[in-house]
Order: sequence, then structure tokens, then C-alpha cells
Amino acid sequence: MTAALEVRDLVKRYAGGFEALKGVSLEIGAGEFFGLLGPNGAGKSTMIHCITGLARPTSGTVKVFGNDAVHHYRQAREAVALAPQEINLDIFLTLEETLDLHGGYFGMSRADRRERTTELLEAFSLTEKRHERTRNLSGGMKRRLTLARALMHRPRLLILDEPTAGVDIELRLELWQYIERINSEGTSIMLTTHYLEEAEQLCDHIAFINHGQIAAHGTIPELTERYGVATLEDAYLELVGRQELSRSHIQEGAA
Ligand code: ADP
Ligand code: MG
Repeated sequence: MTAALEVRDLVKRYAGGFEALKGVSLEIGAGEFFGLLGPNGAGKSTMIHCITGLARPTSGTVKVFGNDAVHHYRQAREAVALAPQEINLDIFLTLEETLDLHGGYFGMSRADRRERTTELLEAFSLTEKRHERTRNLSGGMKRRLTLARALMHRPRLLILDEPTAGVDIELRLELWQYIERINSEGTSIMLTTHYLEEAEQLCDHIAFINHGQIAAHGTIPELTERYGVATLEDAYLELVGRQELSRSHIQEGAA
């Protein structure tokens, strides 16, 4: 079966010369729930931007369901969706318009857009708000709408870049439920987070990234066994370091 994502020897050097990814390889199987874990600045968003066409790899390859993200970017971009860390809704559009416009970018027919909009607003408990402008939504509703928008064109791989950073506990649990459901319905998921608890709860496969390199990857039992530790947090501390963990917690507290 074709992998949902195949990244080979990916290098990303930014204009100033800084190398944010130093030859990263990883694979996500179709249907997998994959967690990319690492401290702030590790290179998670850079990798996501290379996968979704927002940044151009310096070298190496990225394939989404077999489609090269640079040479067959149209097919690659149709197969993938990104729910970005920063909520970037157009505050002047209604919820319905937000989803409809996004479907339009992907060439969905009007009838299909209408049907999919209704379906997603229902799935994310937003139907009552469909004619409201997005500026009037609560933070939690905005998060849900961002997810619904990402799913509009029925991507086979959904990438979530720190979807629960700065989100309160109750909403976090609710988002987890939505994301788990999407995965159980067949969508492959790549989640970046620095909440180990979140990864432990949701992910089948994990990779640790630090300083632009993959430090380890595997299932949670594989990782704990390999490093002779009891929990995912212990494995993370072993590989990424205690200092890094406390640093990301401090930064999160300040955000
Ligand atoms: P993460 O998402 O894991 O927090 P990023 O991928 O955002 O990490 O950043 C990785 C590194 O690349 C950081 O050191 C960051 O400062 C740097 N970086 C990110 N974007 C740019 C850019 N546009 N130009 C130069 N350096 C960047
Ligand atoms: Mg990031």
C-alpha cells in the first residue's frame, strides 16, 4: 500500500543560511495516527511547510500518497490538508462562506460544496452558527471551524500543527474526540505537539525531532523498550533532554 507520507533526506536551509532540517526521513503509513514531537524550534513547522507546499525543500523528497510535493504539487496538495497552529480565518466571512470558498479553491462543484458544508458544520456542532461571521465565534468554535475547513476537500492526510497549544483542557478533550473520529473514518493524521500526554493518548507511531534531526521513531512500546524506560515522557527526556522539556513548558506558559 502507498504510504500516506514519505519524506527522504529532507534538508531545508533558510535564506539566511540556517539549516532548520538536516536530512530528515520518515514515513507515515496509510491510516496511521502519527505524532511528531519535539521542543520549540526543532523544525516541526518547517517540515510541515515543506509537505504542504508553503516552503520549498532545499534537497530531498516529499511524497504525499506517492505524489511528489514539488513536481506533482497539484496532486500532492489535493491529498493533504493543514490545520495551522495560528488560526487564520477571514473574520468577515460567515462560517458557510468560509467552507464554501475553500471548497472552491479545490474545484469542488457547487452541489458538492453545499453538501459537504452542511455535513461538516453538523459534525463540528456549528450548524446553528452557519450564517454568523467568524469574528463572532468563541475560540473553541474557531478551532473547530479551522478543522472543518481543512477537511472540506476530503484530504487523505490531515496535518495538525499544535492544534491544542493554548487551548483549555475541556476543549482539548473535545478536539481529541473529533480528531480520533476522523482517523477512525480512514484519514491519516500527522500531529505535531509538545504535549507528551496528547501524543501518548492519540498516536500509534511517534517520531522525536530535535535540532532538525529525527532522534528516534517507533510505536510507544518500541520506544520505551528501546530506551529501557517506563513512559513516553522518560523516552523523550532521554533523547531530547530535560532542559528542552522544561524550556517548552516555560514558553508555553508565557504564550
Ligand atoms: P518548530 O515548529 O519545531 O517550533 P520551526 O520549524 O518553526 O520549529 O523552526 C525551526 C528553526 O528554523 C527555528 O530555529 C526557527 O527560528 C528557524 N526558522 C523558521 N522559519 C524561518 C525562516 N523563515 N527563516 C529563518 N529561520 C527560520
Ligand atoms: Mg511550529
